[in-house]
Amino acid sequence: MAVKIKFLAPWLPLLLSGAATLVLTKLGFVSSLEPLTHRLLFQARGSQPWREEIVLIKIDQPSIDALGWFPWERDRYTQLVNELTAAEVQTIAFNILFSEETAEDEAFAKAIENHGQVLLASIWSQQTESPWMPNPTLTQAAIEIGHMAQGENVHPDTVQPYIDGHPALGIITAQTHQLSQGELNLLDVQDSLQPHWPGSVEQLQQYSFVDVLEQRVPKEALQGKIALVGMTAEGFDPLISPIEPNKPASGLHLHAAVLHSYLQQNFLHKPAKAWAILGLLLWGVTLRYCFTRMAERKQLITLFIGIVFWPALGMLALNANILLPIAFPILLLTMSGFGLLVMSNTRLHSANSQLQGKATTDALTGLKNRAFFNDYSAYLWRNSIREKQSICIIICDIDHFKQYNDTYGHLAGDDCLSQVSQSLQRAVYRTTDLVIRYGGEEFVILLPNSNLEQGCIIAKRIQHQLAQQAIPHQGSSTSEQVTLSFGIACITPTRRDHLMLLIDQADKALYRAKHEGRDRYKAQQL
Ligand code: GH3
Ligand code: MG
Ligand code: MG
Repeated sequence: MAVKIKFLAPWLPLLLSGAATLVLTKLGFVSSLEPLTHRLLFQARGSQPWREEIVLIKIDQPSIDALGWFPWERDRYTQLVNELTAAEVQTIAFNILFSEETAEDEAFAKAIENHGQVLLASIWSQQTESPWMPNPTLTQAAIEIGHMAQGENVHPDTVQPYIDGHPALGIITAQTHQLSQGELNLLDVQDSLQPHWPGSVEQLQQYSFVDVLEQRVPKEALQGKIALVGMTAEGFDPLISPIEPNKPASGLHLHAAVLHSYLQQNFLHKPAKAWAILGLLLWGVTLRYCFTRMAERKQLITLFIGIVFWPALGMLALNANILLPIAFPILLLTMSGFGLLVMSNTRLHSANSQLQGKATTDALTGLKNRAFFNDYSAYLWRNSIREKQSICIIICDIDHFKQYNDTYGHLAGDDCLSQVSQSLQRAVYRTTDLVIRYGGEEFVILLPNSNLEQGCIIAKRIQHQLAQQAIPHQGSSTSEQVTLSFGIACITPTRRDHLMLLIDQADKALYRAKHEGRDRYKAQQL
């Protein structure tokens, strides 16, 4: 279990944040937050002016109040077209379906033909098998027909530019207008277009239908313009503006936005999928390799900067007509923060439990114990292989220690052990050198990046220290003072070698030292 956690630990923040983000995305958290964050982005960006060519002629509540309940007779529209013709409006587009035939169609068609640049609307949708077109008389008279989004198809964020090859009203109006001006920006054919609403619909130039009919609109306000005619009265064809959800908008406004984006050439684009995948990969690598090595506080500060920085990047992108996702990356960053916190807690916890579970220090001598030796020697061994360095081990054992206990008692024996350990520690200088109480009256000294000669020097130094301490040992047949025997082994390990081999050789050298009379060292180069 511990091994598994150790292996998983560096991946933990990535796994946790990925899983949490995925779950929240699946729950619809992101899709409901994204429009909100985009609206905030637009609000922070501020309103931009609408194209000045665009004028709305609104069938609004005052028009309905003045001209009677809707739908109106064709004569009203004939009259409107005539007024707009008189005002020298360049292009007229009706966001209204005139499908049923009436007795007044001839007069209306005549007015349309007379103007020469009037577009009518059809209703095409993926659902309706056959389109609803204007009646043949009017279709004949119109210069172009464009489909208007209606009903469930209306989505303020996206417009299908072509359905079965038939253009959207906003698109065909822009193209017709540009052609009449002698210029045309062609459009890449795409599945859907995202109009770039510049700002509040209130900032559009707009006049009531009835005001145009009753000639209350100055000619200059209409001359050379594109008049978009349609319903804005509340309750008809409602739509939520992506910028102002609380103010009423309609399909007419949507086509104004499409028209604006076409003329301005600033339809919004989403970053390509490849970018999103690249971004996610980059994020994964950063989280796995950089963040897991950073100090915890730095990780969190970096994430915080990211959370602040991303919307700023979104703003820059918006100015380049790219609509970056905002909610998703911020969610991912936040979740990563949680992931990193959980991981650092886990790490702390496991370090703690390691400390509690196995003490690494020997209580009697204050030296590191055998458990520590096992971990540290394995680490030094791998390091020596990698760095191609020689590593030296000294095993030493107090001579006739049983006798010492027998002569002076066990407590004095303990005292002797701690005095000997002081001698050992005084003899090593390098911080990487390590003295360990290996067990009983046996000690091990690990000397990384040291050769056999250096090992022998350390052994001599210990002997010297011990001679200075001069701990009396009357029971010893070797000396009147406490002495040590040493076995020294040295190797420049390769991957084929094993640490046990080195320990074994040092042990054998110690045995020889004992056998040859104690109070000496024996060394073995491997
Ligand atoms: P040699 O010179 O061959 O090493 O003989 P020795 O008597 O030192 O070796 P032996 O293995 O026969 O005896 C070791 C003794 O060390 C036996 C044991 O009671 C004693 N000893 C081991 N650990 C401790 C300890 O923590 N405190 C004390 N006081 N004695 C210990
Ligand atoms: Mg022993
Ligand atoms: Mg001994």
